[in-house]
Formats: sequence, structure tokens, C-alpha cells
Amino acid sequence: MEFFRVKFTAMKKRFLYLVLRVFIVIMLTILTQVGGLVYLLYLWIKQKHSFIGWKRRVLNIGLFVLLYSICSFAIVPTVAYKLYNRKALPITNSALQPLRMYTFLMNRHYVDEELYEVLVNSAETMQLTYPETTTYFLDACFPLGAKFPLLPHWSHNDGRKVDLAFYYKDSETGIYKNGSPSWLGYGVCESPKAGDKDMPTFCKEQGFFQYSMLEKIVPQYKKETYHFDAKRTKKLIEILTASPSIKKLFIKPHLQSRMQLTSPKIRFHGCHAVRHDDHIHVQL
Ligand SMILES: [Zn+2]
Repeated sequence: MEFFRVKFTAMKKRFLYLVLRVFIVIMLTILTQVGGLVYLLYLWIKQKHSFIGWKRRVLNIGLFVLLYSICSFAIVPTVAYKLYNRKALPITNSALQPLRMYTFLMNRHYVDEELYEVLVNSAETMQLTYPETTTYFLDACFPLGAKFPLLPHWSHNDGRKVDLAFYYKDSETGIYKNGSPSWLGYGVCESPKAGDKDMPTFCKEQGFFQYSMLEKIVPQYKKETYHFDAKRTKKLIEILTASPSIKKLFIKPHLQSRMQLTSPKIRFHGCHAVRHDDHIHVQL
């Protein structure tokens, strides 16, 4: 009896390990695309070499980080360019860079070469027009796959879409302020004022409760110190929509009318998505 009890406990433990590993593979794939595959390679190597004591944990973490870094920064960029004509957006360029590190650490900054050129040129023009201006990108696309969505953005699946942050000024001094009031890049919204077209309320009334969800999750305490810079944001949108490569740009109707933007490329994305008064969505 004792034999069967020990055997059953061992089987249960093995099963739970398997479930945990499958969960890790799925999560890493959803979040980083190649992380799940790297994790499987890591498990395979780990089986071949067993380290002892405290060294085991340190070496295991180090091994995974090393494999993930080689894959993300040495192998994936070449494969993405050769197979899908996608390039990683710049990380250290003073005119165009990621707002948050997670974007490039998780391979969420790949775009088609055509979009890459438009973004870099637009950001450089912005910096020439308004010195000290850095344009920040948020989520773009994953490096590989013809239809691999970068969740939660279902449409960011082909290298042809990117989200950009708004520009801000310091609320007290009125001086250009780089960065964003949101730690995530999303969720701190430039809400409709009295008399504006109020799509958040309209979408909520239609039953689309996901529409304003991020605003409830993301801390809002920095909102007071960042003032939306309509002048520079309008200029960037005009530069982007003037490019023949850009076919659509999503921003909220109340911001479009506040900035007096008239390009037919500017659209409202509908209530099924999330709010676009915290960022600009641009696509080829
Ligand atoms: Zn988008």
C-alpha cells in the first residue's frame, strides 16, 4: 500500500511539473513569441547538465537569460529581416526610441522595413523642428509569422502596425517633457472635455466594458504633471499622414477635432478595441 502511495505522489508531482512547464511555454510565447521555444531548449540543455546546490539556481537562470539573449539579439533580427522584411525599431536613437524597456526585451518592436523608414524619418523631422524632442514607440509587432498577433493588439500581426506615445509638456513650466505619465505607455487618457464627442461613454453604453479597462488598472498619479502637447502631437500626425506609405491612423474623434486634423487617413477604430486617446495607432 505504501509503495502505491509513494508512486502516486511521485506521478502527481511529475504531472504538476508538466502542467507548469506547458503554462510557462504558452505564456512566454504569447508575451515574447520566441521565449517558449527558448525555454524548451533550456529544459533540454538542463537535463543534460545537472549542477549542484546553490549553483544550480544561479546557473539555470543565467543559462536561460543567455539563450534568450542570443536568440533575441543575434538570431531573430537576421531571420525576421530575411523571411519577413521586418526590422527592429531603434533602441538608443535620440529621435526615436521605445518608451519602456519591456518593448524590446520582449521582441515587441519589429516593423516592416517601409514602416521603419517612415518612423525614423518622421521622428528625425520632429527633432529638427522641435529640438530635444524624442518620439516614443509602444507596441509594434513580433518579428516572425504572417499572422502572429501581438496580444492584446489582435491587429498587430503582420509588421505593418505600430503604436506611438503622445508628446507632453510639464504642467507647471510648460516646457517639453519627454516620457509618459503611464508606466505601461497605455492607460493614461486625454479624456473628452465638456462639449467633446464622448466615445468612452457611448461605447460603455453599448456594452463594450473592455473599452476603458486600462484606465482603471494603470495608476494615474503622474497625470497631473504631464500636460498633453497638442501642437507637437498634431505635427507628428500631419507628417505621418502626409507619407504615401501610411494608409490609416487611429486616434479618438475628440482629439482629432481638438487638433483640427482633417486627413481622411485618420479613422475611429470602433468600440470593440480599446481607447485611442492615450496613444496613436499607425499602419501601412
Ligand atoms: Zn495599435
